[in-house]
Amino acid sequence: EHVANQIAAGEVVERPASVVKELVENAIDAGATKIDVWTEEGGLSSIRVTDNGSGIDPEDCETAFYRHATSKISGGRDLFQITSLGFRGEALPSIASVSKVELVTACGEDGAGQRLVIEGGTLKVNEEAPASRGTDFRVRELFYNTPARLKYMKTIQTELGHISDYMYRMALSHPEIAFTLKHNGNSLLQTLGGGDLLQVIAAVYGTTSAKAMIPLEGESLDFAVSGFVSLPDFTRSNRSAITTVVNGRYIRSHVLNQAIMKAYHTLLPVGRHPLVVLRLAMHPSLVDVNVHPAKLEVRFSKEAELTAFVEETIRAALSHEVL
Ligand code: ADP
Ligand code: MG
Repeated sequence: EHVANQIAAGEVVERPASVVKELVENAIDAGATKIDVWTEEGGLSSIRVTDNGSGIDPEDCETAFYRHATSKISGGRDLFQITSLGFRGEALPSIASVSKVELVTACGEDGAGQRLVIEGGTLKVNEEAPASRGTDFRVRELFYNTPARLKYMKTIQTELGHISDYMYRMALSHPEIAFTLKHNGNSLLQTLGGGDLLQVIAAVYGTTSAKAMIPLEGESLDFAVSGFVSLPDFTRSNRSAITTVVNGRYIRSHVLNQAIMKAYHTLLPVGRHPLVVLRLAMHPSLVDVNVHPAKLEVRFSKEAELTAFVEETIRAALSHEVL
């Protein structure tokens, strides 16, 4: 069982950013509206994620660290209907097998919670502890017992880069959630929640960028699009910053990126790139999110209609602004 967890850990926990990803996605699945992430030394010495979500029932705390002990999928349920981010029940046992974990969680507002300490997959403490509703998860000394894995870690700056990239993506795709990210005590991200996407754009890209954004709004029979696009004369000189979100989930799509770039075609000065946050809503049957295990790549069943619609909506917004 322990060996199985460490093997699974190799797949789930590639680097500190993978731990942040799994913990943040659990917090989102738990319905959190506030998620705070603290990291030290690129996440290698410490990662702490707190949320105000549902918490874990004291009786379920220990089993949450067993393999495939997910609470999110019941037998026979169609995998394609899954709306939660995690459903395999592999993250917690994997993380706990390669680090020192401390979990404090509570389901209610009566102050009664549970505290667990697990080191290298071994349960050390499981006791009642005072806690407010939600979950406080600390992961210390990641890979301390798998030196081969530790050796593959890059610089603190590189590992932090992966963490902040991920947090920016989550903030942009979840403007309804208040996120903070701190590294060695320094604040790298603070969003306010409440659905203010422009505030998130300001928090991620700076207020100057946010001021140069124009809102996007459009609807067809099958699709609804919203978000923000940068004015053609206010574009970035470095790599393009396109965020695409489908039904509330961050995704990567080559065809959508192409459609966006086509909309800017001829308007963009040479060597400049747009800043775009595109949110799409469509019936779940029109998008297959399980093409890729990391659930970032998707396939659209009405791809041609969708890309034409996106291109047209952005083109209209831009030309309106230019005229
Ligand atoms: P999965 O997310 O695939 O279900 P995990 O190993 O990530 O599996 O988590 C195991 C279980 O622990 C989850 O199904 C959930 O019931 C519980 N859990 C984990 N993190 C949280 C959290 N932050 N808030 C509430 N419940 C949580
Ligand atoms: Mg999970």
